[in-house]
Amino acid sequence: MPTFVAAPVVPIFRDGTWITPNAADFMPVHNPSTGEVIARTPLLDAAQVDAVVEGAAKAFATWSKTSYTKRVGILFKYKELLEANFLELSQLVTRENGKTLDEAKGDVRRGIECVEFACGIPILAKGENLPQLADMIDGLTSREPIGVCAGIVPFNFPAMVPMWMFPLAIACGNTFVLKPSEKVPLTAVRMAELFQQAGLPEGVFSIVHGAREVVDTLCTHPKIAAISFVGSSPVARHVYALGSANGKRVQAAGGAKNVLLVMPDADPDPTLRAIMGSAFGCAGQRCMAGSVLMGVGEVADDLRDRLVAAMDALKLDDTSANPEAGMGPVIDGGAQSRLRDLISAGAKTEAKLVRDGRETKMTRGFFVGPTLFDQVEPGMKLFRDELFGPVLSMLRPGSLDEAIAMMGQLRFGNGASIFTTNGGTARQFVREMPAGMIGINVGVPAAPAIFSFSGWNGSFYGDLHVMGVEGVQFYTRQKMVLSRWDSTYRRSMGW
Ligand code: NAD
Repeated sequence: MPTFVAAPVVPIFRDGTWITPNAADFMPVHNPSTGEVIARTPLLDAAQVDAVVEGAAKAFATWSKTSYTKRVGILFKYKELLEANFLELSQLVTRENGKTLDEAKGDVRRGIECVEFACGIPILAKGENLPQLADMIDGLTSREPIGVCAGIVPFNFPAMVPMWMFPLAIACGNTFVLKPSEKVPLTAVRMAELFQQAGLPEGVFSIVHGAREVVDTLCTHPKIAAISFVGSSPVARHVYALGSANGKRVQAAGGAKNVLLVMPDADPDPTLRAIMGSAFGCAGQRCMAGSVLMGVGEVADDLRDRLVAAMDALKLDDTSANPEAGMGPVIDGGAQSRLRDLISAGAKTEAKLVRDGRETKMTRGFFVGPTLFDQVEPGMKLFRDELFGPVLSMLRPGSLDEAIAMMGQLRFGNGASIFTTNGGTARQFVREMPAGMIGINVGVPAAPAIFSFSGWNGSFYGDLHVMGVEGVQFYTRQKMVLSRWDSTYRRSMGW
């Protein structure tokens, strides 16, 4: 196992060149399955970030004038390269994030879909045209790029979340500076290498590394036009406030507490599979993970028993060595102890700890086993707060109305799913749930690239959401042209 200081330093990407920067401080990148340090992320200072942004601003002058045909040609080539390197990228995601190989493939696949969406930019960015809106007057609109855009992303989707942002922003004619999570920077580096190989001109895409100082520099930099952020709610609020106060467009997606509601008429087997995938997939580290389970009325006992049996069958393993592992570790030692403490605190409440993941059979790495609390009440932290791990809190409302009233107390609003075979029940849920993404018999109702990822309430700060048509609007601004070309006017002017 390399020691911390012997681990390779992750490079930055500036003006089309890979540079190993000097830094006063570094953060470890782990293989979470083993605990091994596999790289060191340099924490840049403001001056280093400034040099990268200056390069991106210079590149904007040319890239913003580059034709759509040329931009799309590069994006198609990029998509081909991502496909050709699909397995390698997925393995890299597993290595630095710890999710299973199948989950990592899903992460990369969802990212590639964003590139495919961005390839449609000539259609997506087309304006409107109204000839003869008044006598001899024509009106048209176009969508123009906005400048240097920055992306600040979390650790849990090293491929997909950055690709929610940079392919579309660049397709729109902007240049882009990405700050990957300091915990998982390696996938971002590989994705940038492939973009470079696809023929992207220098400075159009750049990568900086760091933590709060880098984020604050990006949010206040006069040459940054827009900030896309995805991460926890407190940081989303901070980025939104700082970026907006400095005149930038900001879209900031935050944390979540997603509900899985099971009605007595739900189809048991597919419902159980969906709950298991939602609550324990990616070790519960998804912003769309179901973390509150509501068994309505008489379904609750049977649901809990079946769930416990499925949880007992879930095999934790080193995902970097075993592609068949059922569940991987959480991201690092800090997350592991935080979750153990949360489970210990939950066990001291009235809630019943049915399965306890604090100890596992794994002798190294950052594992927390699947955990289930039953008899949780809305006032408890287990219900209120995002725990971000494989911990499921079960409540037992007596009716759909009672369940919806409980969910109205949550301050987040990313996702909520209902499991039922009754259309009227599903419809009421869709109409009344205060969340931006609703699932009907779907465990993870995450918006795919063609839609915007539409979290509500404390799960999103800003106006235009990430990806989809709102993403195009976020990365462009409208120009309106009124023109008068008529012979009378020409004659009256004596031309
Ligand atoms: P995080 O908020 O700790 O970090 C996200 C980014 O912000 C990282 O790049 C990090 O370097 C930076 N950062 C961290 N602390 C900062 C600070 N004090 N000031 C400025 N920048 C700071 O999030 P995480 O732990 O990497 O990811 C997990 C969180 O992300 C969860 O809350 C999850 O729900 C959320 N998430 C949300 C979505 C969504 O679409 N809503 C998607 C994925 C993840």
